[in-house]
Amino acid sequence: MKSPPPPAPSARPRREPAGPPQRDVVMIDFDGVVVDSLDAFADALTVACEEQGIGVVRSVDDVVDLLYGNVYESFRAAGVDESGAVQAMTAAIRALERDLSRLRPFPGVAEALARLGDRVDVVIVTSNSERLVHGFLAEHGIAGVAAVAGVESGVSKVAKIAAVARRYPAQRVFPFIADTVGDMREAREAGATPIGVGWGWHDAGRLRAAGATRVVASPEELLELLDPPCREA
Ligand SMILES: [Mg+2]
Repeated sequence: MKSPPPPAPSARPRREPAGPPQRDVVMIDFDGVVVDSLDAFADALTVACEEQGIGVVRSVDDVVDLLYGNVYESFRAAGVDESGAVQAMTAAIRALERDLSRLRPFPGVAEALARLGDRVDVVIVTSNSERLVHGFLAEHGIAGVAAVAGVESGVSKVAKIAAVARRYPAQRVFPFIADTVGDMREAREAGATPIGVGWGWHDAGRLRAAGATRVVASPEELLELLDPPCREA
């Protein structure tokens, strides 16, 4: 009796064993939350705008105003199209990448990220560049960050937050920790829970008015707030 022929090798790829991620995710902004960058960024963006003939940013106050919305939408509202805004932002970011020396982590943030990263996936969602963020984290030995979604992944934080959230289907509450009015609004639009920090570019009152569910005064308070994380509203 002949044995049946062996089954033909399947052309289908093996099933990935992963399934949905086991840990929860916490999303966090970079400038004004992790890195104290306002003065350096304002100087770099002022130079970049001057060089490109864009009269939108001339001072730190102009930069603070720009961040009441998504930075690229604020440029558009001031009459600068997205490609012009990306050019100016890219020039400023490149200048900062060449000299990270003016960028410092806020006190206590490195420790908080390391502890947070022990129990959840920490994803930085930023309008800054992924290259700059990775360079900064490496330079300062900051651990605990699982991934970075920067300008290379798109200019809309709404889209980036939503894309990260889709990878965590079992999670119900998605904290987004940030320091500007624009970020509070984008978090809400993406269905995330905006949490403000009291050490960034916009003050606590404005963050609350823009929808922050809480504004924490220190990285330690942030850790307390996020423990336990995310499964319940
Ligand atoms: Mg920020």
